[in-house]
Amino acid sequence: MTDGTAPATSVVEVALRDAPYGVVIGARLFGDAPEHLPLPATARRALVVSQEPIVAAGHLDAVEAALTGAGLEVVRHLVADGEAAKRVEVLAELWQACAEVPLSRDDVVVAVGGGVVGDLAGFAAATYNRGIAVLQVPTTLLAQVDAAIGGKTGINLAAGKNLVGAFHQPIGVLCDVAILSTLPARILREGFGEVVKYGLIRDPAVLTRLEDVVDRTATPDAAADALDVAIADPALLAELVRRSATVKAAVVAADEREAGERAYLNLGHTYGHAVEALTGYAEVLHGEAVAIGTVVALRLGVALGRTPPELAHRAETLLAALGLPVRGPALDRDEVWSVMGRDKKATRDGVRFVVLDDLAVPTVVTPSRGDVDAVLDELMLDAGSSD
Ligand code: NAD
Repeated sequence: MTDGTAPATSVVEVALRDAPYGVVIGARLFGDAPEHLPLPATARRALVVSQEPIVAAGHLDAVEAALTGAGLEVVRHLVADGEAAKRVEVLAELWQACAEVPLSRDDVVVAVGGGVVGDLAGFAAATYNRGIAVLQVPTTLLAQVDAAIGGKTGINLAAGKNLVGAFHQPIGVLCDVAILSTLPARILREGFGEVVKYGLIRDPAVLTRLEDVVDRTATPDAAADALDVAIADPALLAELVRRSATVKAAVVAADEREAGERAYLNLGHTYGHAVEALTGYAEVLHGEAVAIGTVVALRLGVALGRTPPELAHRAETLLAALGLPVRGPALDRDEVWSVMGRDKKATRDGVRFVVLDDLAVPTVVTPSRGDVDAVLDELMLDAGSSD
């Protein structure tokens, strides 16, 4: 990542009534600036939770140095890599580590990683000692724009993802876009699936910025793909993270417990979750599944006479240009409906989809199976059904 266009540090407030906090966005936040660390005045010790790839990429030392510089005693605890870390056995080891430090109720857990580390360490902090502070330092794009903001924490059970968890808001979120430069390309790319979602539901400037990136890749001297262009431009990345975090923060502040408006964040997630579940949560990454689900939702909106067709086309073109999947894989239709019916977004009236009445005008609909199946047929997302 070049330093030429280093962005100014900005702060997005998550304006919760009881415990508001800031999402700090910038590049190289952990150089020598402990003033960004929103630590409790009482904290004396920090348990830093992370994973080996993040250590190998060289990110942990700077975070730990900043915490030490702020006067904390720091203990590092690494957990297994991948979704497998969101298991009760790994959580129990983490509780044990908290006890061995020992962390008191005044101390802090610091989650340095993607959504997996954030969810796991956040849940450990929510439950250890009946709840201690957690500072989120998200290191994937997906975690910076989504997972680290909003206080949802938890682990998986064999019976399903995120089945055990708690709402536990962090004391702060520190998004350093320089950290994103070491992400494997596919993991960076999936984050853009969520970024496009924010553009569609609330902030159209996100879409125009990304369309500019795509245009720049099309010039004869830029053989790079959109991802390389974005990662070489920290000011742009910081703007995209700031805009996305602003949408998430506003929606979370308006609806902390996901009773109403927060549902709009689920654009692309109804079908997307079915894709993830039916491919074993490994073959298709979350942001990729959201991209596929967004195409389904937008086309559904068109079929229902709500979404302008040119908007659906624009979104699909952008997602594809960013290298995200906009089709498939083929799935058994009955299994898709079975998963969507079990999802928390389902109600007694049926399966709910977020669709767009226009750009930045989301709404929730409960379409008939026939309407949804017609869209899936159009996209040929059917591996046949059992009836
Ligand atoms: P992840 O946490 O598994 O990280 C992906 C991989 O990248 C891991 O191998 C990780 O070690 C590595 N990595 C992370 N940062 C790196 C960096 N800067 N350089 C090099 N390697 C790095 O995946 P993710 O996509 O960030 O998160 C997915 C998880 O987030 C899922 O468990 C999902 O349920 C959860 N999630 C939670 C929320 C929420 O609101 N709490 C929202 C969305 C997703």
